[in-house]
Amino acid sequence: MPQLPSLLKKYFGHSEFRPLQEEIIRQILAGNDALVLMPTGGGKSVCYQLPALVFDGLTVVISPLISLMKDQVDAALSNGIPAACLNSTLTQEESERIIRDLRDGLIKLLYCAPERFALPQFREFLRTLPIKLFAVDEAHCISEWGHDFRADYRTLSLLKEEFPKLPVVALTATATGQVADDIVEQLGIPNAKRFVSSSNRQNLTYRVERKTNAFNKLVHWVTKFKGESVIVYCFSKKETDKIAEQLCALGFNARPYHAGMKPEKRARNQSDFINDKVDIITATIAFGMGIDKSDVRLVVHYSLPKTIEGYFQETGRAGRDGLESECVLFYGPGDQFNQKYFIQQIQDPYQQDKRYEQLNQMVSYCELKKCRRKQLLNYFGESFEQDNCQGCDVCLNTQTSFNAAEVSQKVFVAIHETGGRFGASHIINILLGKNLKKIRDLSHNKLVSYGAVIDFNKDHLAQIIATLVEENYLKKETGMYPTLSLTHKGVTFLDNATPELTMDEPETEAEIPQPKARAATKTKLKSKLSYNQDLFEEFRTLRKHLAIKNNVPPYIIASDKTLIELAHFLPVTTAQLININGIGEVKAQRYGREFIEIIKEYA
Ligand code: ADP
Ligand code: ZN
Repeated sequence: MPQLPSLLKKYFGHSEFRPLQEEIIRQILAGNDALVLMPTGGGKSVCYQLPALVFDGLTVVISPLISLMKDQVDAALSNGIPAACLNSTLTQEESERIIRDLRDGLIKLLYCAPERFALPQFREFLRTLPIKLFAVDEAHCISEWGHDFRADYRTLSLLKEEFPKLPVVALTATATGQVADDIVEQLGIPNAKRFVSSSNRQNLTYRVERKTNAFNKLVHWVTKFKGESVIVYCFSKKETDKIAEQLCALGFNARPYHAGMKPEKRARNQSDFINDKVDIITATIAFGMGIDKSDVRLVVHYSLPKTIEGYFQETGRAGRDGLESECVLFYGPGDQFNQKYFIQQIQDPYQQDKRYEQLNQMVSYCELKKCRRKQLLNYFGESFEQDNCQGCDVCLNTQTSFNAAEVSQKVFVAIHETGGRFGASHIINILLGKNLKKIRDLSHNKLVSYGAVIDFNKDHLAQIIATLVEENYLKKETGMYPTLSLTHKGVTFLDNATPELTMDEPETEAEIPQPKARAATKTKLKSKLSYNQDLFEEFRTLRKHLAIKNNVPPYIIASDKTLIELAHFLPVTTAQLININGIGEVKAQRYGREFIEIIKEYA
């Protein structure tokens, strides 16, 4: 048996296997089937790329997206693994060259899409090659129970029929038990050993924030991560465009991504994001499947996601490199109604029920007052025993609530006394006892509720009223006169002698920082290692430069984590360089000298 740890170091630059990686690799090298369930960023690629290096022959990887394939091939090549892909974007010449290289045994790793595998003449060609292993990436796409079913994946049942002797490894990040069973059945690998690693992403913090002043809150978050990569998931194409525009107007570098755009423009926005030319992408859920960017530091859900699976996969795009990253979801009960509206249009009662159930699961996640991580992991069939995860808003205790019964009653009285004919700002002025002409003219300074509120300011009252509307105590008219009136629920509350109502502590309005102040803030990434920020920035510049020169995304040259280690350990010889996580022999040879030069100058 070859020395697996030394191959891991040599090609991938890692000094140790992560949990399960070595067992998976041994299972595959023994010629057996395997099903690998590992979270995003868990390190699935090593599980089939390392066997590919050991096998005397070819490994074929089925991967759903062409955009992802190029990335994976670039990453493998940059580690010194001979890899290629065959897909429709290649010129005839390029395809012919790859086919020749395959025949000459010059390629170890071949990526292709399921559509191609579905072609009989392609499988015919494959049979002429010394294939040793098939890897099915994003294997959940084969299941209708998953969240992005792809019909082409169904033809993969031919794998075992036509290549019965070859081992198959199926890999996915999101699979419930049902999906896992389905994968095994569809692929015809009943004896596949299952390797399930924890879905827990320790470096991610999960937060749910109230969707009041959502845009200002968003600005706050993206300011905190200024200059870093951020994805903002939106509900509609329109919202996607609008938010990108508003962020740009404030001096942020944001671009939209959705199905309604011209394909070239969309592709350019995506590649600018991947190449660190654009910081923020606002997107509908279509975005992200095709990218492996390792240094996304913040994922925002501006609106309620449709399913927990989808939410988990989207948040999973943050922090693949293992550095601390944030996942923030804005939740207002109003989002439910948007979704319910669409669900009502669904004809098939079975699908409709399923969607209602998914929506309810998502809503109860948002309204949860207990550890969010625990809830997520439980959803995927995993138990989480720690009392405090230290990585969700509930456990970090950032949301504090207060007893809002009394102030709400005062609001209701003011609305009741004025006959439900006024909007929020007038009601607030009454409650605060403002000496205004309009109030005097209407004799509203004679009301019981006039000046009744002393312990809340205007902004706080506005948030309290917004919450009362969201929670259906108040009805707000749409249109030109957004007057407030009491709903049945509100009237009942007003009549209740011992009403109870708690609300999250009102937030001070998130101020929009001035563009100049923003430019001055440079985020220092959280890491256990100490490092010099200026040196780190120099490495980043060099990385960008090398990326352009080699025509690959920056994160393929080195992850942020690798740059932090470089800035901490300050290696000055090739031997020291190879000790850095993420730098193998090939990378040390190709790029080492330039990094060392910077370090020497710094020292
Ligand atoms: P996945 O495909 O599961 O999302 P990747 O294969 O892209 O994950 O790996 C995610 C990150 O983890 C990459 O930056 C990779 O270099 C790193 N990684 C993988 N295996 C190891 C390991 N044994 N030690 C340290 N880092 C690793
Ligand atoms: Zn928690």
